[in-house]
Amino acid sequence: MMNQLKESFKNALLSCSQDKDNFDKASVEWELKKVKKTGYKGIDCICNKRNIQKLCFIKNKINANELICGSDCLCRFLKHIDKNFYFSGLQSIDNQNIPDPRFVHLIYNNKIIDDWDASFLISKYRKKKYSFEDEFNKSRILCQVKLALEEKEIEFK
Ligand SMILES: [Zn+2]
Repeated sequence: MMNQLKESFKNALLSCSQDKDNFDKASVEWELKKVKKTGYKGIDCICNKRNIQKLCFIKNKINANELICGSDCLCRFLKHIDKNFYFSGLQSIDNQNIPDPRFVHLIYNNKIIDDWDASFLISKYRKKKYSFEDEFNKSRILCQVKLALEEKEIEFK
């Protein structure tokens, strides 16, 4: 199953890359442009996996081709793209934990949080204890971020 997915992914990516033969060389032609969490169904990964939930929009730096793949394939097959902080940040948000500062910068740049919220999250990252007021702000911001991520695309610059 895994190998079959890999073959489908490889073939689809190679067909849209400049290098049509060498997957390792072709894969580094691609960069991640944006990610969109989706609540609706019907979009498939280029590996043919159905109904992916985190749409990763990738673009070829040489020929400007664009493709959509799922986050599993992105992490598995396009390892040069540094995005683990993004997916672990999503996980932190789901678990009501403050995400890594890189994730905070990313959502700040995407105008999901304002200056105050960004400074708050960065200053409280990895704190063991929160005051009552901190706990309140943390919940408020993380809840707001979670909702915003359901609707907005996150652009990587
Ligand atoms: Zn896939």
